[in-house]
Amino acid sequence: MLPDALREWAEAPRVGALNDRLPVGDGARYVLCWLQQALRAVDNPVIDAALRLGNALGLPVLVYHGIREDYPYASDRLHHFLLGAARDLAAGCAARGIACVSHVDREGRREKGLVYRLGAEAGAIVVEDQPVFVARWQAARVAARATVPVYAVNAACLVPPAVLGSDIRGRSGFLRRHEPARETWARGTAEVPVVPPYTGPLPFAPDDLATHDPDALIADLAIDHSLPPSTQFPAGRAAAEARLRRLVDTVLPGYAATRNDATRDSGASGLSPYLHFGILGPREVMAAVDGATAGKTHKTKFADELLGWREWFHWQARMLRGAQRYDRVADWAVATLAAHADDPRPEGETLDAMLHGETRDALWNACQKQFVIDGWMHNNLRMYWAKRIIAMTPSPEVAWATACYLNDRLSLDGRDPSTYGNIAAMFGGSPADAERPVYGRVATRGDGSIRHRDGGAAWIAAAAARPVPRLSVPDALPIAWYRAGG
Ligand code: FAD
Repeated sequence: MLPDALREWAEAPRVGALNDRLPVGDGARYVLCWLQQALRAVDNPVIDAALRLGNALGLPVLVYHGIREDYPYASDRLHHFLLGAARDLAAGCAARGIACVSHVDREGRREKGLVYRLGAEAGAIVVEDQPVFVARWQAARVAARATVPVYAVNAACLVPPAVLGSDIRGRSGFLRRHEPARETWARGTAEVPVVPPYTGPLPFAPDDLATHDPDALIADLAIDHSLPPSTQFPAGRAAAEARLRRLVDTVLPGYAATRNDATRDSGASGLSPYLHFGILGPREVMAAVDGATAGKTHKTKFADELLGWREWFHWQARMLRGAQRYDRVADWAVATLAAHADDPRPEGETLDAMLHGETRDALWNACQKQFVIDGWMHNNLRMYWAKRIIAMTPSPEVAWATACYLNDRLSLDGRDPSTYGNIAAMFGGSPADAERPVYGRVATRGDGSIRHRDGGAAWIAAAAARPVPRLSVPDALPIAWYRAGG
């Protein structure tokens, strides 16, 4: 049950109550807004929901963002990106008159149970509604233990998934409901704080990320130091805004024609890392696209990717027990792959060779090196890359875990509903007419879409030859997580 302040809000369908407690006004210091992935200060429905509650209770809002060392795949790459986002989140909140504090967990600065301790002083807690990875299970855990209400707010999608219902069969059914709803949700409702920012006591000493050198901070952490930050995708809001301007000025005018050409630098937007971490929201991106001078075909194609595909995978992920589990792959595909599980695999590769993009397949290496070096891969390459993993690994389930593992560990946009939804589409999709060794009826993909382009062979050779950092190689893949994690 939502309180009036949220129930009567235009964005109410974004909000769900995670427990049945009631907000507390008297004696509480603030409304706690715990951000994990929606790391933007503007057009952020999580912050706006907290402000609405705060304004109704007469409490200021305290935005909190913490970074632990022990989340899966913690590395210099992900920490660097997160720290830049958190730094700009704090500055953006300050500009709006909202208090925002950060904590980087590390030796000598451990803060056990900090969210619970912050929550103990709150009249209500507002968190993100994310369907996968850490944010999903941590929100549920906090809601079970908190003595105040915990509300989860969807900030990742333009159209709140809740308004679409839960009885959609396929993507065309999804689009029939999603497309007519877009216009309504394209309008934002920014909330204004009516009380001064919170300046009261805190149960910890926050980190001022504007004054910390991120590299120095990261150097001493117990995380994966073998994976460096991406120079292609700098951290922070300014880099995200520059990507958005590049989309409008350079990419969008030819998008429908250039999007599939991985050999071009400006065929696609490169926005996915910034969208994954919520540094940009889909509403802001679509407003820029709608206002651009590019032709309708290009705008429609872009909307189909950003809204028609991305939000479809978000919706799907909410309906699944674990979006990252192998059992989400279409039944027919699981069956045909299982029927060929014992086929000889002459194209098998070691995890070491795969991680470093040093297999016998030059195009696959070119793809993988984008993940290792850039922390991102072009969509067209991702399709070839995922399909080929089926032949390179000892069994279909190991193939699934390997694809998810490489995507999640290396790509800035990994650990996302789009990660698992797209890999599932590559392992399933439409069945092929012919039955092949290893793949059964799962369609394979050749290298023609790159090799047969003008200069394609030279592009592959150069991309496959890029030097990569030596990455730590795990003894085993987290197969259980990709089989049965919840
Ligand atoms: P653009 O072409 O500029 O598209 C704009 C935005 O639309 C993207 O930023 C993205 O948010 C969305 N989008 C585009 N294509 C897709 C798609 N196929 N599915 C869902 N959303 C899409 N996307 C991720 O965000 N994270 C992943 O981990 C991820 N893993 C993938 C794995 C495989 C095997 C495949 C085939 C695709 C994967 N994608 C993933 C989808 C897509 O490849 C990327 O979103 C896209 O390449 C990002 O580049 P861009 O921002 O330049 O895309």
